[in-house]
Amino acid sequence: MLKNPINQRIFNEILMYKKIIFRILEKFSYLIWLILLISFTIFITYFYDRNKNNQLNYLNKLLNNIYLNNSFKKITSELNPRYLNLEYSVSEGDTYEKIINNIEISNFEKKLFLKSITKDKNIKVLKVNQKIYFLIDRREKEKIINFTIEIDKKKNILFKRHQSENSFSSKIIEKNLTKMITFKEGVITNSLYSSALEQGIKPNIIIEFARLYGFTIDFQRDIWKDDSFQIIFEEFKNEDGSLIETGDIIYANLNTKETDHQLYKFEYEENKIDYFDENGKSVKKTLMKTPINGARLSSSFGKRKHPILGFTKMHTGTDFAAPKGTPIMASGDGIITKASWCGGGGNCVKIKHNSTYQTVYAHMSKFGRGIKKGVRVKQGQIIGYVGSTGLSTGPHLHYEVIENGRKINSQKLKLPSGKILKGNLRKKFEVIKIKTDVLKSELISKL
Ligand SMILES: [Zn+2]
Repeated sequence: MLKNPINQRIFNEILMYKKIIFRILEKFSYLIWLILLISFTIFITYFYDRNKNNQLNYLNKLLNNIYLNNSFKKITSELNPRYLNLEYSVSEGDTYEKIINNIEISNFEKKLFLKSITKDKNIKVLKVNQKIYFLIDRREKEKIINFTIEIDKKKNILFKRHQSENSFSSKIIEKNLTKMITFKEGVITNSLYSSALEQGIKPNIIIEFARLYGFTIDFQRDIWKDDSFQIIFEEFKNEDGSLIETGDIIYANLNTKETDHQLYKFEYEENKIDYFDENGKSVKKTLMKTPINGARLSSSFGKRKHPILGFTKMHTGTDFAAPKGTPIMASGDGIITKASWCGGGGNCVKIKHNSTYQTVYAHMSKFGRGIKKGVRVKQGQIIGYVGSTGLSTGPHLHYEVIENGRKINSQKLKLPSGKILKGNLRKKFEVIKIKTDVLKSELISKL
């Protein structure tokens, strides 16, 4: 017993607190173990993911070879390190400034390029898919040796640097390409993409085909084994008969469960083309159902167990599994309101389409070229690439549609159909349709 009653009281109090603390620890020991266990699980999942990502890198390299459309393509850099051969394909909203700023050269070279092209009227307006080629000398300081801009499928303009001075002279080069009309058909055995590749159809034609049907067809649910497709498209061949490039799709048909979905190319205004069904109805809608090609719907909208957090949670979007690097398209025209890190969603993009609709795309590996807040995008424009950033177990696109501030199921979205051709335009379309049908039967009879 302590002599001082105050000390005694303090001692008793300490004893009491000690007991309380031990009781609390005992009560919460389950929780402590649980926290440790969760940390351990997250740790293991992280390493498993990293290993999986390494495996996917291989697939990625393959894909990068397919999706060259919207980025620079290095042609001979591996063969000869001194010279760099770049090929560029123009996309919606591109300017010469934007294009040249993507190349790592001095500002002096950039200015020289921009100065040289202003003199020629043929190349004033950039067209989507127009090609530009650069040959760059990388010895000492990077210098443009020459560059070529495509005027049309028959002509290029070549700019050559004068050795002694910093200027370019230009000349027009005839390409001597012959336009061919090709008909291909096939049965879908595995996926549309692989079945079309087997038929020898070039990837950019398949991507365009999938984009056209992306408004109405859900590639996971609406396509069945033994469905079939037919495509008529343009190809441009060299004098020796080798394929140089592909042009437009003229006609497309996707037959699912015995029903034809035919589309006809139609120039409704000068230099403006769109695709219409046999009733003259445009395929274009405000938003696309599937803003990605060749993907598999892996998790739909609704209640589900979260793959990482483990508990049941409302899944407020649609997941499409696809290899890392697969391009993601803007589902509709609009303005980018976000293109940055958003926590669990990783790298994500948000687009405001109109006063009713907004869309969100999450877990991207990287953003598309020039994609940032405030930028206007066109439907089908590449805004980013599939990845596994944020809270994600593997490469996929998490896609959300927000209608009047409320997240809704993108796959059940009923949007008003596109415009219908009327009057004179309709008459013109009917003529094109008949001509296309005749062309189709001619091409089939030659098979
Ligand atoms: Zn998701």
